[in-house]
Amino acid sequence: MRLLSIVAAAVLLSAQPARTVLVFGHLWDGTKMLDDVVVTVDGDRIASVDSGQKQVPAGATDLRRYTAIPGLIDLHTHITYYWDRKPGTRPLGQRRRPAVTVFLAQDNARRTLETGVTTIRDLGASGEADFAMRDLVAMGAMPGPRMFVAGQGISARAGAAPNPDAMKQAVEDRIKAGADWIKVYGSRGSFDSVDTTQTITFDEMKAIVDAAHALGHKVAIHSYGPSGVKDAVRAGADSVEHGIDLDDETIAEMARRGTVWVPTIDHNRYYVDAKDEFGFKPEAIPPLQDYIAKNLESTRRAVKAGVKIGMGSDAVYSMFGQNTRELEWMVKAGMTPAQALATATTTAAELLDQKDKLGRIAPGFAADIVAIEGKPLENINDVITGVRWVMKDGLVVVRK
Ligand SMILES: [Zn+2]
Repeated sequence: MRLLSIVAAAVLLSAQPARTVLVFGHLWDGTKMLDDVVVTVDGDRIASVDSGQKQVPAGATDLRRYTAIPGLIDLHTHITYYWDRKPGTRPLGQRRRPAVTVFLAQDNARRTLETGVTTIRDLGASGEADFAMRDLVAMGAMPGPRMFVAGQGISARAGAAPNPDAMKQAVEDRIKAGADWIKVYGSRGSFDSVDTTQTITFDEMKAIVDAAHALGHKVAIHSYGPSGVKDAVRAGADSVEHGIDLDDETIAEMARRGTVWVPTIDHNRYYVDAKDEFGFKPEAIPPLQDYIAKNLESTRRAVKAGVKIGMGSDAVYSMFGQNTRELEWMVKAGMTPAQALATATTTAAELLDQKDKLGRIAPGFAADIVAIEGKPLENINDVITGVRWVMKDGLVVVRK
């Protein structure tokens, strides 16, 4: 026991980052492009960023063939949804103890880091497995993206009458248990179901948002359909997840309030591609395709109206490793690559109340840096396929 704890302490100690100097050919700092850039990292923070440096300092890590971008933020994951791919099994339906899930889900965490995502907001887990993963990653005991987590999402009990007081109590219980965020299932819809039926009333949403805000926590409300999105926005949700057929009034209200919309367009593309793994029926596919088209159309209108958009993959099971494919949809919705990157950097960091720590490569910010092969500001696909090296908190976590 004593020997083990000494070994563990030594591993953590040796992982303590020191002063590192990095050189990039180009660097997008979250606001602008710089050329010939030397970045100095002190411990887990960025100390300096200097452009126009033609000489490579002695001892520097030479990454001049790459373009650096800030570590990316995925605003919607379910990282504890793990599938071991055992023949004859499906992703849904495997049951195991939470501690076993935490151990196995390291694989999802590793795949996520490999996409350049160094921070996630995890919106729904059972058995408090997400709390454990968050804490292990923060301790440096488990490699993975830093995590902001919600615990078990709040949903309405089938057949029960609306009960705002019970919702308020649920919020207080989640926060006491250790949730950073409150996740609400405001409608049906998930996996092969695109059922848009609202399940939580406006009054309940309002009770949830007020209770969370009173305790200094934020709220993300899931809604597949327009009425749930409308009520979530009016109730003061900090972010709204999914959604189609948004009316102009709701879009204008999101823009006015600064509500972040996380459309998660790509997750239904994933369900279509992974239909055989899940065993979805052929008749489930056209409604998924139809949802994607409507989801994209509403995103296009929201982009035009100046709504803050966030990148969320809604990754589950075998979707980890595809976390950033949502960026391509952002460009299809009318954004420039820089605007698409903002959905996973500055806008996401602001939503997480981390705008002075995450989402930029600048002095004082966390040393989360991704080296991309290609031209990320010209071709967003280079971000999706061109990640070659990732630093998180001053430590190199991916090297390809
Ligand atoms: Zn989700």
